[in-house]
Amino acid sequence: MKIALFPGSFDPITKGHQSIVNRALPLFDKIIIGIGYNSTKKTLFSLEERKKWAELTFKNNPKIEVSTYEGLTVNYCKEVNAKYILRGLRNVNDFTFENNIAMMNMDMDNAVETIFLCTIPKFSAINSSIVRDIILNKGNASQFIPEEIKQYFC
Ligand code: ADP
Repeated sequence: MKIALFPGSFDPITKGHQSIVNRALPLFDKIIIGIGYNSTKKTLFSLEERKKWAELTFKNNPKIEVSTYEGLTVNYCKEVNAKYILRGLRNVNDFTFENNIAMMNMDMDNAVETIFLCTIPKFSAINSSIVRDIILNKGNASQFIPEEIKQYFC
């Protein structure tokens, strides 16, 4: 069974994340959206909220699971038997950052391959940190949020 882990903060999940998962679906038997918990990284939304929104976004798809984890992503891959890490690339900055992480993950566990999908142009500007800024400044960020959960952001 081909299992991919899509790790991230998902603070909050956006249409950009949703699109990467949907496009990766034909490649894998199961995709686990892994919401990483890092006690030193401050998030706007709680782990419970981020998990609930990811679950609601994909609630009609039995191939997608949502979970939370702490610690190294490669260790979590082993725990859930994921041989692939899925990541999205918006631009060259993402590539530089993601490429380093992928190479270091490969050094730590060469049985896990990182698969990158380039974003589709209409979602390439969507960024969770800008979405958070809009929300913090009382703007309406719902157009960047999956339709399934946008009522929580109006
Ligand atoms: P992290 O804190 O690990 O960067 P994010 O939740 O910000 O977590 O992102 C998770 C993954 O989703 C990353 O691979 C990121 O590049 C990708 N991603 C984020 N926004 C988009 C987007 N608009 N289009 C495609 N990929 C995206």
